[in-house]
Amino acid sequence: MNQHLLTHDTADAYVDGMSRVTDLVARHLATGAPSTGAAVADLTPAVESVDLDHPAADLESALTEVTDLYLRDAIWFHHPSYVAHLNCPVALPAVLAEGFLAAVNTSVDTWDQSAGGTLIEQRLVRWTAERIGLGPEADGVFTSGGTQSNLQGLVLARGEALRRHGRESAPRLRVLASDQSHFSVLTSARIMGLEPDAVIPVPTAPGGGMLPDALGLALESVREGGDIPMAVVATAGTTDLGAIDPLRPIGDLCAEHSVWLHVDAAYGGGLLTSTRRRHLLDGIERADSVTVDFHKTFFQPVSSSAVLVRDGRTLGHVTHHADYLNPRTAVTPNQVNKSLQTTRRFDALKLWMTLRVTGADALGEIFDEVIDRAHEVWEVLRADERFEVAAEPTLSTVLLRYRPADVTAAEADSLNPRIRHALLDRGDVMVAGTVVDGRSWLKFTLLNPHTTLDHLRGILDTIATTGEELLEEDAADALTLTSLEVAR
Ligand SMILES: *Cc1c(COP(=O)(O)O)cnc(C)c1O
Repeated sequence: MNQHLLTHDTADAYVDGMSRVTDLVARHLATGAPSTGAAVADLTPAVESVDLDHPAADLESALTEVTDLYLRDAIWFHHPSYVAHLNCPVALPAVLAEGFLAAVNTSVDTWDQSAGGTLIEQRLVRWTAERIGLGPEADGVFTSGGTQSNLQGLVLARGEALRRHGRESAPRLRVLASDQSHFSVLTSARIMGLEPDAVIPVPTAPGGGMLPDALGLALESVREGGDIPMAVVATAGTTDLGAIDPLRPIGDLCAEHSVWLHVDAAYGGGLLTSTRRRHLLDGIERADSVTVDFHKTFFQPVSSSAVLVRDGRTLGHVTHHADYLNPRTAVTPNQVNKSLQTTRRFDALKLWMTLRVTGADALGEIFDEVIDRAHEVWEVLRADERFEVAAEPTLSTVLLRYRPADVTAAEADSLNPRIRHALLDRGDVMVAGTVVDGRSWLKFTLLNPHTTLDHLRGILDTIATTGEELLEEDAADALTLTSLEVAR
């Protein structure tokens, strides 16, 4: 009897093993910092020295090894001092659902591999599409993330553009997206074999939202140049500034020019459950396709995302019927017909469990709370002379830079990334960094309701203290250099 695979015979070992794993995780949740600050050089030798050709002595030693190589130095997104990237603390019911996914190992590509899983995914697709307001013909599919959802949205847009022009293929397809849009728009165009200049960047206002007039001009000039506008990508929540492009006027322009509108709501999609800020997404119902990342603002474990479409028939642009899997004659619902993937995780169950246990309103309230926090810390920053702060946030990101009175803008550009790296080396506070219009900024991305305004004040003090120390070191170095010069 084989003891290595999960079957009825190993059910006891499964229960014991899972409880060892959950014990370990539970203990590490008490971590005092989001990171230990471990560097690549600290962890590499231990990972490299593992003999992968021979197993560890037993489960216990393998778990100890995993703890040493991974768990102890993992980056913890539930810690209040983690305010770096778009990572969320995860909804507990969703983590429990992961237990089902791994053990049952459902693949939602065909009905005969998933049964109820297919229906649960379809129901959630409809629920999300209804919240967006996509209408009765809407459909969609879960994906691995916003990158894949954006790719699929653009693949469908191309299919429709070619269909409308009665072509099998066409050069000179153009995609218009704001200069703040996610890089996956560019990589999608490259993967699709569009020309290198196929993505036309549309200028944005200082707050980061696309300028509709500029989009209008860009669409005109695409037409005048004899090119085919294949899609406009509007972003509902840009990665740096959290800006939401003006969806209504963009929708009008797309209707006027008969262009596919893809809305990348990977970040802002959480507003679909907000009871206080749903209106920020007004106009999203005009989209032909929408990206929603549940693993960002729906507090789901990676991975969980979806692409939703106004007209389910457009999903046919990715359909292939294989005799062994989903023949044309099949009468069962087969999600593979709508997906770029074949074998696919039943990620939908995590969102299902979250909606059934936590509830949609509570999810929305968590997102609203962190947006409130972003506004509060923005006010604090405005009054704090040690810092510069960017435009007032729409969502939950805040761009700031340490720049006391005697520091020039150029000095601040080199100082702030150094502050960030000093913090990463210590691990007790994690902030992100970015460059906007050539200036370096630090970034708070707030997705953790346990990060209070007091925590954020503390993080600001830590940033300032670190900045001061670096400036003092620089001054001391300069002094040493000067005295060397003098001595010479
Ligand atoms: C995060 C993000 C993406 C990419 O999503 P992944 O899930 O990381 O693949 C795309 N667009 C926007 C606006 C995002 O914030």
